[in-house]
Amino acid sequence: MEARSIDEQLTPIWDEAKAHLRDRVNDPTFRVFFERAVPVSIDGTTFTLGVASDFVRDWSEKRFGALVAEALGAVLSTPVDVLFVVDSRAEAAAQEAPAEVAPAQQPSVQPRRSQPEAEAPAGVVRPPTNLNPRYTFERFVVGPHNEYASAVARSVAEAPATAHNPVFIYAGTGLGKTHLMQAIAHETVTRHPSLKVKYVTCEQFTDDFISGVSEKSRVDGFKRKYRTNDILLIDDVQFLAGKEGTQVEFFHTFNFLYEAGKQTVITSDRPPRELEELEERLRSRFGQGVVVDIGRPNLETRIAILRKQVKWDGLVIRDAEVLEYIASRVTTNIRELYGALTRVAGFASVHNTDVSLDVAREALKDILPRAYAMPVSVETIMAEVASQFGVHVNDLRGDKRSQDIAYPRQIAMYLARDLTDLSLPQIGERFGGRHHTTVIYAVQKIERQLTDEHDRQLHELIQTITTRVKAVR
Ligand code: ADP
Ligand code: MG
Repeated sequence: MEARSIDEQLTPIWDEAKAHLRDRVNDPTFRVFFERAVPVSIDGTTFTLGVASDFVRDWSEKRFGALVAEALGAVLSTPVDVLFVVDSRAEAAAQEAPAEVAPAQQPSVQPRRSQPEAEAPAGVVRPPTNLNPRYTFERFVVGPHNEYASAVARSVAEAPATAHNPVFIYAGTGLGKTHLMQAIAHETVTRHPSLKVKYVTCEQFTDDFISGVSEKSRVDGFKRKYRTNDILLIDDVQFLAGKEGTQVEFFHTFNFLYEAGKQTVITSDRPPRELEELEERLRSRFGQGVVVDIGRPNLETRIAILRKQVKWDGLVIRDAEVLEYIASRVTTNIRELYGALTRVAGFASVHNTDVSLDVAREALKDILPRAYAMPVSVETIMAEVASQFGVHVNDLRGDKRSQDIAYPRQIAMYLARDLTDLSLPQIGERFGGRHHTTVIYAVQKIERQLTDEHDRQLHELIQTITTRVKAVR
């Protein structure tokens, strides 16, 4: 409630300031830097503005801080300081479609996380308002990495609660789980207007549950909210870890819907069996229906994704090699891929030039190596760790438990977890068939030494090995 009223106060101020800014900068600059910025707060004379990425924040601070302060100052008739922060709402808006390509039933909905949903009058089914209008099937590029997941999603949207139920989708971050899940919601709303569809993040579910347990009437409200749906989509269930009460409620909600013949769709960052901190019965329920994963897109698909984005964003990129260049630099995550494109476009706009290969090179020259790294193999990691410690690779896979072997082995496991996409059991397998709990133990131990104990020597060692492993690859 509180947050909304602040929103209501700040939005008109920012809208007016934006109108000033529109006249002061060229179109592409306005689009990249101001159009999607969102007001966050005002504290004394400091106005905080949320922008889409680190890049936009840094550039805004450097290039436009004074201009924005002046515009806001003019609106508020007082000198104002401006603080730029990265904000998820601006991030979502930055990827927004122009209005004409947004789905017809939701022309101007701004994606707002955890916006409270208005209660529909009894008997009237309203489409969920917390969906990102951009996250539709039309805008979901299909490639080998997501072919199966997207086929399952489409079939669920066509005929909910028939062939595939429940559906469990898992993938690493930024690979399209939320997009695909919301595409199901958009599509079912259109195809089956009489069905009640609800999309929530696991966080929202938890918040609702926690505020529901305190009062009897609220408990009923909670049940009504979740158990009356024909299709319930819950995003990021890994966040149920450590929330026992919510897990129990989740389990009951899940069973209730299942027994009533309703559809559930769940996403997570890992497969059900690896959700170790969740109750066993919940994990086995998740595994009962269809479990599909989304992998990493190949180069061709990454280029296709960029091409579509360019079109939707109305960007002009004449040099075809630019997209290939960006796609070859950013391999692990589609959110990062979009980020790199925004960065290149933004860079060209502030320098008032066309987007060329040189511009792309310059704009991306210091991108974070981790996010853009190519996959590395466990074998390379083992070889590098073994050589640093002067032990034999076979020892890392072997039975010896002496400290001089166990410690390098733990470091190698930690790096395998950090630098590859292998699951814990897969890593255990590669280290001589060890149990995944051994891997967890190793990873946590090294993490503790790095973070809690600030072990500098270990930190440097990890850095060195990482750099070498990546150079070998
Ligand atoms: P996750 O939920 O897995 O972290 P998201 O669904 O939020 O990932 O996707 C991250 C970004 O990448 C979003 O902007 C989304 O639209 C985009 N994206 C992901 N997969 C695709 C795809 N196949 N085609 C087009 N855009 C995609
Ligand atoms: Mg997501």
